[in-house]
Order: sequence, then structure tokens, then C-alpha cells
Amino acid sequence: MSKKGGGKKDFFSPKAIANRWKAKGLQKLRWYCQMCQKQCRDENGFKCHTMSESHMRQMAVFAESPDAVMDEFSAEFEKSFMTLLSRRYHVRRVHANIVYNEFIQDKEHVHMNSTMWSSLTDFVKYLGKTGKCAIDETEKGWYIQWIDRDPRTLARQQAAAKKKKAELDDEERAAHEKAVADKAKHDALQKKALTKGLAGYGPSGGKAAFAKSKGKKGKGRPPARAKPPPAK
Ligand SMILES: [Zn+2]
Repeated sequence: MSKKGGGKKDFFSPKAIANRWKAKGLQKLRWYCQMCQKQCRDENGFKCHTMSESHMRQMAVFAESPDAVMDEFSAEFEKSFMTLLSRRYHVRRVHANIVYNEFIQDKEHVHMNSTMWSSLTDFVKYLGKTGKCAIDETEKGWYIQWIDRDPRTLARQQAAAKKKKAELDDEERAAHEKAVADKAKHDALQKKALTKGLAGYGPSGGKAAFAKSKGKKGKGRPPARAKPPPAK
């Protein structure tokens, strides 16, 4: 927190706010009280506001728990920014500055100088580190891309993945069944060839054996067994 300069109590003092504006060149945001979310017309109006009862009350709340208030601003900033990014650009990659420029057009937007981030780059890096956006730096600056973590989207993606797996399983099963069928066909052909061999048409020649045995023994009986056809 030392980067903010001074104690937390002084964070919303007019001088501290003016210094931050100056440092960031945010002249347009002058005379806006972040804590009360009140825009004042000029320096005098702002001074009057800081002395008002409502502002004092807010200051007291802030003094009680500065971290809680700071975090609230940061959380609100992040929430609004992400809402804009997701609604307007969805998962499209976009220059962070473009989103930011649209973001600050909302008069009620939480000003960055009241958040835990000291610059847009800081915030972009935070989005990347926390996995809320895909980020990448180019010569033109930082680009961001919203990551859709909506449970409905996740459910849709899971269903699609499941369907794809089922299709793959079907393909696998079909391939397996085809292999089994091919094997059966092959076995049947082999069996057929063997049977033919026994009947005397096989390449290893039941006929020759038959003739041989006929010549030798003269009993005219084919051999009981024939050699299977030679493996090709
Ligand atoms: Zn105020």
C-alpha cells in the first residue's frame, strides 16, 4: 500500500486525490468523490462536499475499515468491467484500452484510483493471473479475452465432449466388429479350402495321394487325412 503514498486515512483527502489525478493525467475525473460517488462541479464544490456531513460519515466508515472499503471498490470495479467485457465482446480478443474507454463513459463507474490497481496494465495482469481473462501483450499494448466460466457453458462443453467420446467409442466398436467379421470370413474360407483339399481339389493334392494309394494298394480309397494347403 506504500505505493499510494501516505497513510490509508489520507487516501481520500482532496490533496491525495488531486495528486493521483495529476500523476495519471486524469483531469476529466477531477472533483469526483469516489467514496460518496459524487461529482462536484469545481474545486470549491469539492471542498464543500468534503466538509459535508454525508462525506464525514463515509470517511468515518472508511477510517474504521479501510481495507474493506478499498476491496469493495476493487470488487465493484472488476465486476462492472467484466460485465461490460463479457456482454459486449464475449470471448472475442480485444484491446484493453478499448474496453476501458467504454467503461469510463459510464458516469457512475468506479474510478481506478480508488481500486487496488494503480494502472490498467496492473488490472489486466491481475485478470490474467487470476485466470479471469486470457491476456497478451503486443506492440500496441495489452489485449484481453474473456473466459466463459458460466456453468451452463461448461455443461454444454462437457455434453459436447461426451457426445464426441461416444461417437469415437461407436467407431471403435464398429472397427472391432468388422475385425471379428473379417476373421470369421477368413476362417470360413480357410475351412472351405481345407474341405476341398480333402475332396481332392486342394493344392497339396488329395488326388495325387489318392492315385498313389490306388496304385500302391489298389483299394481305391482316398487317404483319411490330407495336408493343409501350404501357407502363402
Ligand atoms: Zn464524499
